[in-house]
Amino acid sequence: MKEMVSHTIEIKMNKTMRRYLDMCFGYNRYCWNKMLAENIRRQEAKEKYKFDDLSKYLNATKEAWEFDVPSAIRATSFNTLYKSFKRMWKGIANYPKFKKKNKTQQSFLYTVEERTLIWNDDYTKFKINCGKNFKFPQKYRWFKLTEPIGFNGNIKEICFFKKADRYFANFRIQLNQARGQTTATDIVGIDLGLKTYATLSDETTYNLPKKKLKKLEKKVMFYQKRMSHKYKEGQARQSNKYLKTKAKFNKLWWKITCLRKEFLHQTTTDICRNFKTIVVETLRPLNLIKNKKLAKQIQDACWGMFVEMLRYKSASHGNIFIKADAFYPSTQLCNCCGHRFKGSNKLRLQDRIYKCPECGNEEDRDINAAKNLQLYGSRMLAGLQPSWRTWENS
Ligand SMILES: [Zn+2]
Repeated sequence: MKEMVSHTIEIKMNKTMRRYLDMCFGYNRYCWNKMLAENIRRQEAKEKYKFDDLSKYLNATKEAWEFDVPSAIRATSFNTLYKSFKRMWKGIANYPKFKKKNKTQQSFLYTVEERTLIWNDDYTKFKINCGKNFKFPQKYRWFKLTEPIGFNGNIKEICFFKKADRYFANFRIQLNQARGQTTATDIVGIDLGLKTYATLSDETTYNLPKKKLKKLEKKVMFYQKRMSHKYKEGQARQSNKYLKTKAKFNKLWWKITCLRKEFLHQTTTDICRNFKTIVVETLRPLNLIKNKKLAKQIQDACWGMFVEMLRYKSASHGNIFIKADAFYPSTQLCNCCGHRFKGSNKLRLQDRIYKCPECGNEEDRDINAAKNLQLYGSRMLAGLQPSWRTWENS
């Protein structure tokens, strides 16, 4: 099967376009809620019906104003509802909920049919052209993107959504050919930490833009406080001042997430391009989170996401991805002679230097750990036991 990727790009909006997309979001919500309510009604009345009947019901009860909105939304709204019911029937999700304007993500899905997407020359603008199905007013039917689409392939689906008052399109693309395979041959071990985000065994380090993040986080806290002052309990509708602050808060929060994600994407792509074999430790953050002082920092670091990105990017770049055994003591071993600190001698979190009592090697703690992971990887590739086990026995 050909590989699927997804790419999210912001759409440049103007007033009319905004109104139009908001209407589409609203229509998606309307269809979903109407079918869900009808489903509940029929179940309670113990009527016999097929799930498809909900879609027929939706079409049969169409009102005059619905002729002005893209009818494609009706079909995809049914499909997504059907999918969530399927998940529920399998027991992996709860009963689908009603969509609320301010609480659920505003979105709608467009399933692309053949030859209905038209792009401009540099792939920064597109329009949907499929006649009656997705009627778009002539004037503003071009969607302008803030960056060109970065993959070559067939676009299967577009999910339009709104976040923090900005509009985005998420493209699901089926790639025409496999992505560029890495030509690198080296093995790299990666140690993840709080002080330095990622330390590689070749001594390269990657760090989150901590200063920028701190600045933004301070602002977020400020708005959070303000929101809590303005929040009135037991009221269905909050004051305009509250809503305005909330919008600002959301915007900032979105910015912070973007900064983090950008860092994660750049770093993982870099690593996948520069090395053939990638070795990471198996994280056990649950144990670490018990330490309350570190809990927030660890959650912010999103190591899990980092490792997951490395894993799937490795698959498409042709890398070998190795997760070290959860009990591999990468921080406690000396990468020169294999000495292992044990029991009360163990290296603590605050010890920044690894001083080996046996061979006298002195090294930065993170670099030492990364080098141990690299060793682990090369031994695995050679079909040998992970080093600490053999040394342990001898
Ligand atoms: Zn040593």
